[in-house]
Amino acid sequence: MSELDLADLDLSEATMRAFASEVVDRVVRHLASLEQQPAMGDMDQAAALAGSAVFAGPCPEEGEELTRILDPLFDAASPGYLAFIPGGGLFPAGLADLIADGVNRYTGIAEASPALVALEAQVLDWLCRLLRLPSGARGLLTSGGSLATLGAVVAARHRHLGTRLREGVLYTSSQAHHSVAKAAALAGILPDRQRVLPVDDRHRLRLDALEDAIAADRRAGLVPFLVVSAAGTTNTGAVDPLPAIADLCAREGLWHHCDAAYGGFFYLVDEVAPALVGLERADSVTLDPHKGLFLPYGTGALLVRDGEALRAAHAVNAEYLPPLDETRYAPTHYGPELSRPFRGLRLWLPLKLFGLARFRAALAEKHALATWCAEGLAAHEGVSLLAPPPLSLFAFEATAPGRSAVEKSAATERWLAAVNERRHVLLSGTRIDGRFFARICVLCFRTRRRHMEIALRDLLETRDALRW
Ligand SMILES: *Cc1c(COP(=O)(O)O)cnc(C)c1O
Repeated sequence: MSELDLADLDLSEATMRAFASEVVDRVVRHLASLEQQPAMGDMDQAAALAGSAVFAGPCPEEGEELTRILDPLFDAASPGYLAFIPGGGLFPAGLADLIADGVNRYTGIAEASPALVALEAQVLDWLCRLLRLPSGARGLLTSGGSLATLGAVVAARHRHLGTRLREGVLYTSSQAHHSVAKAAALAGILPDRQRVLPVDDRHRLRLDALEDAIAADRRAGLVPFLVVSAAGTTNTGAVDPLPAIADLCAREGLWHHCDAAYGGFFYLVDEVAPALVGLERADSVTLDPHKGLFLPYGTGALLVRDGEALRAAHAVNAEYLPPLDETRYAPTHYGPELSRPFRGLRLWLPLKLFGLARFRAALAEKHALATWCAEGLAAHEGVSLLAPPPLSLFAFEATAPGRSAVEKSAATERWLAAVNERRHVLLSGTRIDGRFFARICVLCFRTRRRHMEIALRDLLETRDALRW
């Protein structure tokens, strides 16, 4: 047998084919069996601990067999996953990644791969059209919503504050995703310049509180510069009053960023779009295609109405790069990364393959399923909805006459545990003003009517067993 040439990392054509078919075969087998798997996967602690032995140990000096390495890797969002905000993982996006990674073209600047960078610019343009942003809008594909929001804060800061960093004040609601505070702090807007404002009875940012806070900060000699609203909060799915916030920001000369990581793509659906009107007036928007377009994790998007503001905050050049060409889109000039994965393809391929109508239909169905389940629950005594789902997420609690908030919280927690114990569906809970609520978010593309029927059945059956 010939000596292994250690320095040769290339694979033969036959080996590449064998490896690829081994991997594709396992992925397909796994996905085809999801329906039969529990909704919880390896969140089960015992299984996770047993599995961890496989991942323990030092980095091996010598390679191993592919089949052995692959065994512990398979897990994905099942149709019964209704917790947090489900991710999808459309299979064609995985194929797109295989192409992007296999071909491995550099897509930081247009000069390196003009066609592929143009493809990514086109995808961003599609997203801008979906949100009805004007033609000067530009954006950036990021690893997720958190980094998209970071880019927005940086652009707003650059435009409005210049060197007056410590004077700038950001406003958001108590229901904002924690990534907003994190992005702000990373961008130099420290907690003492972040105002967390109260919400109304539907958990939407209160405009009067926002106006008062801005006025107070101006009186104190500070510089209000950014309002971060939410189009679909993680706790309750609430949509802030976007048109009123847009009016206020226009009047006060503030940047309005909308965190639509969860909710933004529902703008595609006619019957849901009215809930999101005003989104198109934001100065910037966070989207998460790995939520609302059912793509695999690692796909976020930032869209900025005046694209120049995003470019101005990020474009720098170096002697070893081609001179800045302002006429051509270059991801590197719109974000912090120089080298980066080719994210455009994992949006482009599924959108071309399926067409927008099917995404629209899938999102409309998720909204309808959440509404159906919420109505089914609300029809029963002893269940109280916080609000009907504006998009595809709602929170609810167990209730009974004469029960205190503490008793309701405890009962709701027991109820949730009883449902999850059945392992057909997985729900998660949250605390709002100290009270515990169960929540359902329908956003996995695999979740269909039959799964929601099981969810509702399990919820109603376990509620009957609740001990008050
Ligand atoms: C998921 C989410 C985020 C964070 O996005 P990542 O992609 O996880 O970084 C921010 N805001 C909202 C409303 C979200 O649902």
